[in-house]
Amino acid sequence: MAENTDKNKLDPMLKYKVAEKPGGETVKACYSCGVCTAACPVNEVNEDFNPRKMIRMILLGDKENLFSSDLMWYCMLCERCYANCPQKVNFAHIARALRDIAVEEGFVDSEFSVIIKKIESRVGDLRKDAIAEVLKNKKNIENIDINKTLKELINSDE
Ligand code: SF4
Ligand code: SF4
Repeated sequence: MAENTDKNKLDPMLKYKVAEKPGGETVKACYSCGVCTAACPVNEVNEDFNPRKMIRMILLGDKENLFSSDLMWYCMLCERCYANCPQKVNFAHIARALRDIAVEEGFVDSEFSVIIKKIESRVGDLRKDAIAEVLKNKKNIENIDINKTLKELINSDE
């Protein structure tokens, strides 16, 4: 995600809009150390997903690049970044704030945001059910096929 340096295209109000949302006020405390990114499980699988960089874009007001990218939708809202942040900045809350602003300002349809919330809820349930299944078979751990277990759980729901 490239940073916008054209001052005419920056929105200086963006950080205030984020700060007005529940939990979003911590955004202004970020000093860009990058500990959040190092702790983030999504960054482990996708280097382009970088909470430190996204916060910098909010503080700069680089709305155009932030909202034209899909990256903010990849946050799992797990709060591992928050647990490690020396400034107690909560990126999960900030990601929720960004998603609300994206809907309010017409960057995405509100139905899109509802689908993302349903996916998050379903993934949480799936994780709980998969772990319960593994625990049931913990005496035969070598026989557990994780992909098969996940497929069966997904199919049992259809
Ligand atoms: S760990 Fe906290 S202070 Fe450091 S970059 Fe991330 S949000 Fe900012
Ligand atoms: S809340 Fe989002 S940014 Fe923070 S560690 Fe989890 S996935 Fe990464």
